[in-house]
Amino acid sequence: MARNAVQFQKGLSESAFEQLYGTEEQCRAIVIASRWPNGFECPVCGAGQYSVVTTRDLYQCAKCRRQTSPIAGTIFASTHLPLRLWFRAIYHLTQSKQGISSVELGRRLGVTQTTAWKLKHKLKQVMLERDATKPLTGRVEIDDTYIGGEGSGGKRGRGAPGKTPVVVAVETTSEGKPVRLKLRRVTSFCAASISQFAKRSLDPNCSVVSDGLQCFAGVTDAGCAHQVVKTGSGPKAARSPAFKWVNTALGNIKAAITGTYRAINRKHVPRYLAEFEYRFNRRYDLAAIIPRLTWAAVRTTPMPYRLLKLAEGVGKPRDARLARSVYLIA
Ligand SMILES: [Zn+2]
Repeated sequence: MARNAVQFQKGLSESAFEQLYGTEEQCRAIVIASRWPNGFECPVCGAGQYSVVTTRDLYQCAKCRRQTSPIAGTIFASTHLPLRLWFRAIYHLTQSKQGISSVELGRRLGVTQTTAWKLKHKLKQVMLERDATKPLTGRVEIDDTYIGGEGSGGKRGRGAPGKTPVVVAVETTSEGKPVRLKLRRVTSFCAASISQFAKRSLDPNCSVVSDGLQCFAGVTDAGCAHQVVKTGSGPKAARSPAFKWVNTALGNIKAAITGTYRAINRKHVPRYLAEFEYRFNRRYDLAAIIPRLTWAAVRTTPMPYRLLKLAEGVGKPRDARLARSVYLIA
């Protein structure tokens, strides 16, 4: 049997990572290059001439004299941690299929679990905001599941308290090869919430395949075609070729939740989903995830701890419009 190209890709070894991101100077240079790819640009007046205030690690605009930190206004803002640790967190969060718990991350970085949790959730927030747009196109397999609570990942009909209803959608090629994944929390499995999901997450040209759960007819509201493939129930349903990738993605998520995270706080479910989604959608090039996430991180506005602790969508008043359209699906 041919080796799976995704599973067996070389990725970035720990020693290769250390060579590229091992020192504070390297990490700082990467952050600066990601933030200002065409050279420094003053956030106030847009001028490109500057001097560096070395004692305070600031850029000073030659025109308006405003001093700017390269991490101000980004997800790294006001951090007391070396950027080197941030990059190590990025490495651990992105290079394994199952993610990493904050306890384990704390151990590896030599920081407390709370610090590791903050780091991780800020990075997940970057992933969430980055993948919020970009609707799926073409053939899309869609299914419903519940995340969290006891017996995580159970099928519909088990809407026990603590469980979060989640739509799983996988865009595939016409030959059925997986392209991209979307995982979205919904209020419930009713036509209205599926219609809302489809309008935000699916291109009107999508051809959606579902197992006929009634609410999925809601995708036609977004202009999508809808095909029902009856699968029956039980293990036979899970093997249905029409839903191969939806089932594979679900299997991976369940394994990661039970194996890595044990329990997920209900209010943080969207960020965990964003992490799976982000990794899945970039699985062909694990090494490139690090510079790509850095690029997105310097374009994500700061997320203080007090907002991080709230449920997604409650905080970030500056991004209220985005929050309404993205986080408040539930
Ligand atoms: Zn200026």
